Amino acid sequence: MSKKQLTNDPYAAACQQLRDAVAALADQYEDESQLQAAAARLATHDHLYTKKLTLTMDDGHPKTFDAYRFQHNAARGPYKGGLRFHPQVSESEVKALSMWMTWKCAITNLPYGGAKGGIAVDPHELSPRELQALSRAWTRAFAPYIGPWQDVPAPDVNTNGQIMAWMADELIRLHADDLTQNYAATFTGKPLIFGGSQGREEATGLGGATVLAALARAQKMKIADTAIAVQGFGNVGAWFARHAARLGFKVVAVSDSRHTLYNSHGLDIDEAAAAKRQYRRFNEAHSAGKVNGEILPAADILSLDVNVLVPAALENAITTDNAHTIKAPLIFEMANGPTTPDAEKYLVSQGKMVMPDILDNAGGVTTSYFEWVQNLSGDTWSYDTVLGKLTPLMERSFADVWAMHQRRPADSLRQAAYLIAVKKVIDAMIIRGQV
Ligand code: GLU
Repeated sequence: MSKKQLTNDPYAAACQQLRDAVAALADQYEDESQLQAAAARLATHDHLYTKKLTLTMDDGHPKTFDAYRFQHNAARGPYKGGLRFHPQVSESEVKALSMWMTWKCAITNLPYGGAKGGIAVDPHELSPRELQALSRAWTRAFAPYIGPWQDVPAPDVNTNGQIMAWMADELIRLHADDLTQNYAATFTGKPLIFGGSQGREEATGLGGATVLAALARAQKMKIADTAIAVQGFGNVGAWFARHAARLGFKVVAVSDSRHTLYNSHGLDIDEAAAAKRQYRRFNEAHSAGKVNGEILPAADILSLDVNVLVPAALENAITTDNAHTIKAPLIFEMANGPTTPDAEKYLVSQGKMVMPDILDNAGGVTTSYFEWVQNLSGDTWSYDTVLGKLTPLMERSFADVWAMHQRRPADSLRQAAYLIAVKKVIDAMIIRGQV
């Protein structure tokens, strides 16, 4: 690997972030060797399961896909984390994403550890039959390692409630003889009609908008004057934009992998989402007169003159190649791992703030937890009940990170978040006598 590839390697980034946190925690542990033992274990994974899934395509030919479930740590509870269907899914990516889940669940105090999985595939190239067959094949391959008290997958990039429903159905069939467990609780992010929770689909975006509003209050920012640009208009980006606009922020730009849609007076997010659904591309919706804004190249989203830049797509969106073009003083990470460590160092040296992913996008897994609790207790909660639990939980998690940042102003916000999250996991390992 070249130096550049190494610095843009998600797992190398995740390990660097862990090392930085452990170094700063040293004075909090009497027994330094215990801390180092925990750190060494956290730099690796409990289990790395990889499988080849061979699917008969519609044209009759077999095709093989690489599939993953990586379980990072379960000191605080069962493994938890999403499943991603994307051609870029790789060992390094899933290793990093599963480690980040461990910190995300710790920072929000959810009784879970961290895991992640997926398939290296572009689901848009599959027919509905192929997609269903591949989803069921994933469940069959990883069935021994998942379960409501063992490991609980959920949606991530390019997966959704429908896929969770197929996967849960397959697992229930496999365990047809075992009536002692509710196997549907093995998957969260399910559709409402099949054990899903109110609010789950929008939860990541909603949780992020809640954290941003709390930060705006803490910093005495004027919400109505705060212009936001959102990179990525999938589930997370679109719901974040919608909720940020609802809370009074001015969302001036959204982008997908091809174009940026920009209006300095603020965009109508529902209109943009409806147009994108109908036309798939912002430029085509624009030609049809269905969106009120101008079309710019996709990459321009990063360099717009806004107050908040929200990367809500994939890793490595912000690297040392483009960090210098960013004008926004606040980078609010809704994707997992969008900023490389070197790019973050540069941004912080420029006086910019980077609000970390493990806090900003934790609303999704938090609402997954609410779904799991409802499934395991046989209860169903109203939308208002879910919101009434999600909002204070996100605000409290923000307040913890902010208080740590005030105590250690020389540290980045990510470091503040990591000091809280990593310490909780290490303390759980110590109290359980694992190290
Ligand atoms: N995929 C989401 C994340 O990265 C949600 C995970 C979950 O709900 O388990 O946080």
